[in-house]
Amino acid sequence: MTAKSTKPAYTRPEVPSEHENELASVIAGAQELLRWEKSLGGDGIPRSELAVASKGPGGDPTVSDAIQDCQARLQVLADEAANCSRCELSKGRTKSVFARGTPDTDLVFVGEAPGYHEDQEGLPFVGRAGQLLDRMISAMGYPRDGVYICNVVKCRPPENRTPLPSEAAACAQFLVPQLELVQPKVIVALGRCAAENLQCVPPAGRWRGIWGEWRGIPVMPTYHPAFLLRSPQFKKPVWEDLQAVLGVLNREVPKSDR
Ligand code: URA
Repeated sequence: MTAKSTKPAYTRPEVPSEHENELASVIAGAQELLRWEKSLGGDGIPRSELAVASKGPGGDPTVSDAIQDCQARLQVLADEAANCSRCELSKGRTKSVFARGTPDTDLVFVGEAPGYHEDQEGLPFVGRAGQLLDRMISAMGYPRDGVYICNVVKCRPPENRTPLPSEAAACAQFLVPQLELVQPKVIVALGRCAAENLQCVPPAGRWRGIWGEWRGIPVMPTYHPAFLLRSPQFKKPVWEDLQAVLGVLNREVPKSDR
């Protein structure tokens, strides 16, 4: 997603236009159709047909058009993030870190910010915390790249500090359209920073494991994998949160030998 696009520059308005919202809902419908097809035992639309079926009858856009358009729009955002200088974090970055995984999914994980390894590689959650996140994803029954993973901010903060509210606000310019384009059925907010920025931390009391909502999408706030590396005794409540997520997604909890 971080490769430079050859497409003409695209300038996105500050606030999503009605057309963008409409497009996001067309894409969501298309993704739903693909998921339904897969649930019936198919493997989506065969690649060869994807290339041929670029237009439906009467030249109407097809499912493959919508998914390709979603990916193209995400790529435009990733390219914008790679060149962004809206906040001070841009000055320290090696690579911007936009996302990994697939946008054609029902499940998105949102973390806090890239760390050292992510900044070097340009991909989120590739360090030790990322390896734990991969095990959590696998325990949920998803392939590593069967979900979409991104962060509140796209550039590494100095000394891995928590992003400032002003930095998170500047980067919402990317996070908001990113999540609206992917339109998952559930978002998992990894850590308090992600939960706060998705407005899912109650003013008082517990926040972990309490369902919230972001623009109509259910959000499960849970502990960050980096915290779990330091405090493994909290893995159990996190696994309970992830099981609740599987319930909302109507997915079986995989049997495990844990
Ligand atoms: N922690 C995060 O919140 N995000 C990453 O990408 C890596 C570590």
